[in-house]
Amino acid sequence: MQMFPDFDAAQRCDKLEHPLFEGGNYDVFVKREDLVHPKLNGNKWRKLKYNIEAYKKSDCKSILSFGGAYSNHLAALSYASNLYDFPLFMIVRGEQPKTPSNTLKFAEECGVNLIYVSRAEYRRRTEQEWLQELQNKYNAYIIPEGGSNIEGVKGCMEILPENVYDYVMVATATGATLAGLSASCDEKTKCIGISVLNDQGFLMDAVLNFHNALSIKRTNYTIISDYTHGGYAKRSPTLDQFIRSFNLNHSIPIEFVYSGKLFFAFFDLLKNGYFKEGSRILLVHTGGLQYMEDQSN
Ligand SMILES: *Cc1c(COP(=O)(O)O)cnc(C)c1O
Repeated sequence: MQMFPDFDAAQRCDKLEHPLFEGGNYDVFVKREDLVHPKLNGNKWRKLKYNIEAYKKSDCKSILSFGGAYSNHLAALSYASNLYDFPLFMIVRGEQPKTPSNTLKFAEECGVNLIYVSRAEYRRRTEQEWLQELQNKYNAYIIPEGGSNIEGVKGCMEILPENVYDYVMVATATGATLAGLSASCDEKTKCIGISVLNDQGFLMDAVLNFHNALSIKRTNYTIISDYTHGGYAKRSPTLDQFIRSFNLNHSIPIEFVYSGKLFFAFFDLLKNGYFKEGSRILLVHTGGLQYMEDQSN
């Protein structure tokens, strides 16, 4: 199955230039997962690859997954349902909005069956009983929220084209992408997840559990939770200011939910002497820019 519409884009790394890098002799690169495809990009795309393959091999007749009204996972999966021709059922958190988000409109255009459930019901999304019920009802291959399962982690193990970095950094929510990145690096590379939500201490365990399930042993990863700016999709004036100025001075677009927090954290850590001099640092831009269309409304 040809999973990448544009293989060159899937490999692309851009060098980032900044006066701050000169003193410490830092080489900084950005892995442009955001460029793979306008809708089907970033880590959400990576996480779908082996899930869709597993679905095709199964006897299931549809895919079912979970997401919010602005979810990058919903956008990627909606597009994939057309490209790879499978019926898609999406359990959407919250009542149907009077004015749908662009992401929801896009999903409708793709012919996705959107099933709105209350927030209380949505909270049951990992309960076996409900999953079994949904599986039976829709004869569905079920992908968890954000595509964060073992198949998803396997896809994220293909993000890095080469293993030549001292540090690899990524915005982290469930830890699946960090698990894949750290699994694909050797112990010499330090993989840093910048938590975008107020971590309740489960993230390190989440990564460990993914590694255990793949029989992989790594101690090369860490989570930094000092850059959430208040929590998931929350923003602060300093973050907004940073993003505005970054977007003016660089040709790599960032937004406030994921990439903005990652880049902000990187520059702050750099200023605080976190990185060894002369090191090679890779920032993984996980995409998710489709979300910004909703911000300009
Ligand atoms: C979902 C998402 C993440 C978080 O990935 P996890 O594997 O859940 O940690 C990071 N960046 C973007 C753009 C995302 O859409």
